[in-house]
Amino acid sequence: MSTTPEHVKCLIIGSGPAGYTAAIYAARADLKPVMYQGLQPGGQLTETTDVDNFPGYPEGINGPQMMQDLEAQAKRFDTDVRTGWVTEVNFEGPVHKVYVGEGDNRQEIHADSVIISTGASAKWLGLESELRLRDMGGGVSACAVCDGFFYRNQEVVIVGAGDTACEEASYLAKLCTKVTMLVRRDEMRASMAMQHRVKNTENIEIHWNTETLEVLGEHGVEGVRVKNNITGAEDVIACTGFFVAIGHKPNTDVFRNWIDLDDQGYITYAQPGTAKTNREGVFVSGDAADKVYRQAVTAAGTGCMAALDAERYLSDKGLH
Ligand code: NDP
Repeated sequence: MSTTPEHVKCLIIGSGPAGYTAAIYAARADLKPVMYQGLQPGGQLTETTDVDNFPGYPEGINGPQMMQDLEAQAKRFDTDVRTGWVTEVNFEGPVHKVYVGEGDNRQEIHADSVIISTGASAKWLGLESELRLRDMGGGVSACAVCDGFFYRNQEVVIVGAGDTACEEASYLAKLCTKVTMLVRRDEMRASMAMQHRVKNTENIEIHWNTETLEVLGEHGVEGVRVKNNITGAEDVIACTGFFVAIGHKPNTDVFRNWIDLDDQGYITYAQPGTAKTNREGVFVSGDAADKVYRQAVTAAGTGCMAALDAERYLSDKGLH
């Protein structure tokens, strides 16, 4: 471990649309931001294929390409983008201590301000067929708002029974001819209002006590093999899109001892309408604090807020 910690004005942790947007704003404000990209450089968008809903791309853009563009834009203003992940923090203040890497490679960094943009990871069922088709862009998705459009006038299946699954099923029902919801128990976890909505939508069919055994198709989704966990009966449901909506895990474990989290691990804002956390000088943006919208454009928006708040904080403290 290096003995003299590096001192930076603005440290950005995470490299999705929130982190890169924070970097662009922070760099242009001359905060000389240093970014650690984390374990999945580019974040969740590197798992998607086409992004058709980010303003400014009339023909759509491929997710990984969009993240490369954001990185190039952040670097154009001299953001110091580094490979590495944060393994520990100490936000006792006033200087925020951040540790990157492990063992002999562990480095200590002192930051006047920190922007957390570590995002959240979608949960997957873990089936080989699901992950294979997901990775080849073959019709498996964890975001109906991002990918539903590609299945217009087609039949899709969605797994999950929380608010997200209900909201996504309702969204898909407006685009698709039929939406089959696979619920693993005989009841849903979602709020009654959301349950009501899906139960009263004509083209949503709910299969209770049903688990997914396999997503069928070589190069694209052709159907789903399912099993009723009460009767043991197996069935095949034909579809061209398979949506997984079984929850997300915010990547916030490393901040747990310092930053206020809600019961699901999302960072809570200390002051709504700002990017402030409970620790002075530590700001949050993107999905690490958002379980409702989870869009690239909302993450980018809060990334901008975090950088502007960091700049004001540093000015007020006479650190910039
Ligand atoms: P939840 O954790 O609430 O629900 C996950 C759902 O997926 C549960 O029904 C669960 O089933 C099911 N599930 C989990 N693992 C599997 C599996 N392996 N196979 C099949 N089903 C599985 O996640 P959500 O993303 O729905 O919601 C997260 C939070 O965000 C909640 O607090 C929710 O209220 C909130 N939210 C709010 C919204 C809003 O206000 N508009 C919109 C979306 C979310 P089981 O019930 O059997 O455990």
